[in-house]
Amino acid sequence: MKKWTQNFKGLLNLFLQSNCPLCQRPTSQDLCQNCARQLQKCYLKDPRSLWKDPLPVFAWGRYGGILKRAIAAMKYENQPQIARFLGQSLGEAWLLHAPLYEQKIVVVPIPLHPNKQKDRGYNQAALIAQSFCETTGLKLKQNGLTRVRATEAQYSLSASERAKNLTEAFGIGKDFRRRPEVAVLLVDDIYTTGATAMSAMQTLNQAGMKVVGLAASAITLKV
Ligand SMILES: [Zn+2]
Repeated sequence: MKKWTQNFKGLLNLFLQSNCPLCQRPTSQDLCQNCARQLQKCYLKDPRSLWKDPLPVFAWGRYGGILKRAIAAMKYENQPQIARFLGQSLGEAWLLHAPLYEQKIVVVPIPLHPNKQKDRGYNQAALIAQSFCETTGLKLKQNGLTRVRATEAQYSLSASERAKNLTEAFGIGKDFRRRPEVAVLLVDDIYTTGATAMSAMQTLNQAGMKVVGLAASAITLKV
């Protein structure tokens, strides 16, 4: 009987534990301790170093190594739980280093085109924004923006083509139909050229709304 109970407990633990999406070791967390520790090393010392006009950026980490691997697993290997770690880390950094702003801000994730979201099953930026808001206490406007047009894969285009490709890519979502008196903090997983975020900002600006900046889990630029 005792042996059976032990076996049963062992079996139960096996079900409660899952594998770390980055190294496949068993863990009861979203990521194993080792990978979480490795990821913490990607944290930038000064997340505010790019917080300046025209589009201030608050970035948690440098895109590369295990952070690049984590983002790829989150997006392409059906591992949305990684967004929880990234959003929480971004939120903790924001609580420590939040830039000063006078207005009340709300958080809006950069939307995916509906077709893409349907394929993936989730929008990783929205999941990051959700954890970010749970950590910071900021208000989330999941549907502040919509994607109105499918854009070509950005990496295949030059800088000027990228900007053109993104023109009119966004529309005002149902959360902002009544144009609230708030400023927006955009959230995305990666900040690369800034073309996507800039286009989202222009859409909100044209609707009379202010954008304070963008918070991203990773940046590819040198800082
Ligand atoms: Zn791991």
